[in-house]
Amino acid sequence: MTINILFAAKAERWTTYQAPLTEALKAAGLEFDLRTDFPPAEVEYIVYAPNSDVQDFTPYTRLKAVLNLWAGVEDVVGNATLTVPLTRMVDHGLTQGMVEWVTGHTLRYHLGIDAHINGQDGVWRKDIPPLAQDRKVTVLGLGALGAAVSQALVGLGFDVTGWSRSAKTEEGVNCLHGPAGLTAALETAEILILLLPDTQATENTLRAETLEIMPKGACIINPGRGPLINDHDLLEALNSGQIAHATLDVFRVEPLPIEDPYWAHPNVTVTPHIASETRPTTASQNVADNIQRSETGQPLLHVVDRALGY
Ligand code: NDP
Repeated sequence: MTINILFAAKAERWTTYQAPLTEALKAAGLEFDLRTDFPPAEVEYIVYAPNSDVQDFTPYTRLKAVLNLWAGVEDVVGNATLTVPLTRMVDHGLTQGMVEWVTGHTLRYHLGIDAHINGQDGVWRKDIPPLAQDRKVTVLGLGALGAAVSQALVGLGFDVTGWSRSAKTEEGVNCLHGPAGLTAALETAEILILLLPDTQATENTLRAETLEIMPKGACIINPGRGPLINDHDLLEALNSGQIAHATLDVFRVEPLPIEDPYWAHPNVTVTPHIASETRPTTASQNVADNIQRSETGQPLLHVVDRALGY
């Protein structure tokens, strides 16, 4: 029986995904019809990306699952018309990209690279940075991405603390969890990395009273999601010197509006949501694998907990 799969995303994504997804579905031994347009009542799976035209799932009466191409699901997880399982993207390419991006920005702060890039002024700045073992880094979120990032930083020798909702064990990482663990996780965070999902519980994780807990002059790297930070409070903390610098990849409004104070702030680096992208080849294999699992009665991988929102 042919499986009807709707690709619901912006047109440019179809251009990128059509070939690798077709190949991956074939390689999984599936007989399928993959299109960007179907009568809703015929669709069995939706491969989904944010800003898709599909916002009302009610007419999709034969739908078995929605497979999100992104790791973050905040655009769709609260959709009350979606009653079938929702999966999110966990992908080697996505994870490796995030590890590389976070490691690069962590080393920038750790080594004080900016002082030399911006300091070609004849001053011989012979400040020796500490070794990584003497640098305390905290990673908020120990999921697919946060755990991989933590392991990479441990591999470089950093003194790594991690924080998650439930208790976790990660080799070489001081693992804390729950609301009580957050204070301890922030107290030592000379460099703080946010890899939490955007949910009701994580909104404004960084705000005046939590920023205050961090060591004076700490640096922040946010490749998680914009709403994790109260922007007003972060700007105050940057202006007072409580936070020395922030590298922000994600924002409440994207693209970041030209008038946003982050653009002009001397102690902020803005990057345009490029920390890591879902890689079409590996992501397509994951989607095909999950459809194949579903069709053969195996449980889907990476199913989102709709109540928790991630
Ligand atoms: P996961 O769902 O695998 O991990 C999320 C982690 O956050 C888990 O450790 C979870 O705890 C923790 N967490 C969730 N809620 C809370 C809470 N209330 N308190 C404490 N900890 C909490 O997600 P990923 O690692 O795959 O991705 C993380 C986020 O990264 C995505 O949601 C997305 O927003 C962002 N992202 C950004 C990209 C970019 O290019 N900028 C690219 C890809 C993703 P527990 O382990 O207990 O469940």
